[in-house]
Amino acid sequence: MKLIDPILQFHEELKLIRRTIHSNPELSYEEFETAELVARKLTEWGIPVIRGLGGTGVVGVIRNGTSSRSVGLRADMDALPLQEINSFDHRSRCDGKMHACGHDGHTTMLLGAAYYLAKHRNFDGTVYVIFQPAEEGAGGAKKMMEDGLFTQCPMEAVFGMHNWPGAPAGTMGVIPGPMMASSNEFELTIKGKGSHAAQPHLSTDPVMVAVQIAQSWQTIISRNKNPLDAGVLSVTQIHSGTTTNIVPDSAQMVGTVRTFTMETLDLIEQRMGEIAAHTAAAFGASVDFSFRRNYPPLINHELETTFAKEVMKDVVGDDGVLKKVEPTMGSEDFAFMLLEKPGCYVFIGNGDGTHREMGHGLGPCNLHNPSYDFNDELLPIGASYWVRLAEQFLARTPLR
Ligand SMILES: [Zn+2]
Ligand SMILES: [Zn+2]
Repeated sequence: MKLIDPILQFHEELKLIRRTIHSNPELSYEEFETAELVARKLTEWGIPVIRGLGGTGVVGVIRNGTSSRSVGLRADMDALPLQEINSFDHRSRCDGKMHACGHDGHTTMLLGAAYYLAKHRNFDGTVYVIFQPAEEGAGGAKKMMEDGLFTQCPMEAVFGMHNWPGAPAGTMGVIPGPMMASSNEFELTIKGKGSHAAQPHLSTDPVMVAVQIAQSWQTIISRNKNPLDAGVLSVTQIHSGTTTNIVPDSAQMVGTVRTFTMETLDLIEQRMGEIAAHTAAAFGASVDFSFRRNYPPLINHELETTFAKEVMKDVVGDDGVLKKVEPTMGSEDFAFMLLEKPGCYVFIGNGDGTHREMGHGLGPCNLHNPSYDFNDELLPIGASYWVRLAEQFLARTPLR
């Protein structure tokens, strides 16, 4: 590994920042104190700050030289509504809130890079360090864009990073193309006709219709979509009825759909509506169907992915670059940024949890797990990657 010395010397300070943020987790769009801390540090290091994009978003603008070249590095700041079960000193001080996805670490790695870039300025151009709110479901990336992120901060490309438990600390990985799935939610209400359960012939039983629809929907995955293009359709709740002797009036179903392409998403949404309406009609019932698209699939751009991989090699060495990275059905709102700007999103190995004081018996330290903790050993690795990425991006001939 070729980590940057001044960042290694700053490791203890970074650890302190990371643990401060960990102990004070703030939920989506409520990252007031985190944003304050980020802005204070950037200002302390002589970096001009733009605030208010996406509510609590913070952007540091690090300029040097005369070049008009520019690049964006993005981290997320929000925590999750989850009760932490760790007992170490830096555990969450806020009941029911926890940094269980490592955004405390993402924020700190980017701060580490900003500290170095501002102090050493071995680049010609502008580096935007973007600290976004509300990654966990509320689309803070999109909100920052709607508030003018890319017009106020024009950048050629934008890069993101997430820690990855299970992959060893000291490794990084990326793949071109789809790396994370689109995430979508649906709700279906089936309107039938209730009756005494002993007189089913007087009813239009919505439970029967719900069962038929839930089963038929799976044929979209097995019969309609191209089997080489991944997709998930999960009905996660079915609600109907109140007791044993009443055929209910209506039934509700909700769930999630995940895909790696918009074409497959369009197909699944359309077929779900058709199957629901026609199945209900076949039984004399009717439906209300709604489908909400949350995050689009995260698609890494080819040129920027090849470039990021070269930078990775520089930082973690040949052996540190993961040979095999599988796309995940999880989702990520950085996908919105990659719809507007070239760039890519990489994973950085978080280890298997041995850095933690304790586990809760369910295996390695997984994201969104109540015993999760970001691995502080990653701080200089991630910060070094960010610095080298920015320096090399601005130094080389434009990728496009
Ligand atoms: Zn998360
Ligand atoms: Zn996350």
